[in-house]
Amino acid sequence: MLGVDDVADRIESVGFRCRRCGACCRRVAEDSNLVIVSPAEVRAIMAATGMAWDEVAEPYPDFIDAGNGGEYTLAWCIRRTTKACIFLREGRCSVYAHRPWICRTYPFMLVDDELRVSECSGLGMPLSPPGARDAAADLCGRQAAEAAEEAGIRAVYRRATVPPGKRAVIDSEGVKVLHG
Ligand code: SF4
Repeated sequence: MLGVDDVADRIESVGFRCRRCGACCRRVAEDSNLVIVSPAEVRAIMAATGMAWDEVAEPYPDFIDAGNGGEYTLAWCIRRTTKACIFLREGRCSVYAHRPWICRTYPFMLVDDELRVSECSGLGMPLSPPGARDAAADLCGRQAAEAAEEAGIRAVYRRATVPPGKRAVIDSEGVKVLHG
């Protein structure tokens, strides 16, 4: 896994400054603003907003056949309208202090030792070394959090049973059967 300094060097060489356009929060294509969130991230937004779980998050839309008439998916996403993330208000994130890792680190992503960069109009803008280091620290934090969530999902998955005919989300906290 890359260290923060290596990631910072790579981010600095790409260059980035958020233009606050909100484009990454808008639904310009089916999956363009799909923000996957861990249970901990959902709970942080619930605590900050007073909203219920189902008001904050919806199941990741790709369901897998459980082989017994049921089906499951392995993640949650922030709820979206047909146009944007539900937390985008007047062009700004209304849960900015509690925004998920994916939002915090956009347009960057670490896949093992590779820095991946998504489309963004702020790319190529000069970035100071301290700015690059902050972004790198967030990105490494995200990678560690995602690895922990993945390990938690694997542990639950090994002993998970989806009730026949039901739809469920399997996350690091357990099997959550969906109603309605
Ligand atoms: S949580 Fe905030 S930053 Fe993330 S997609 Fe929604 S509005 Fe954008």
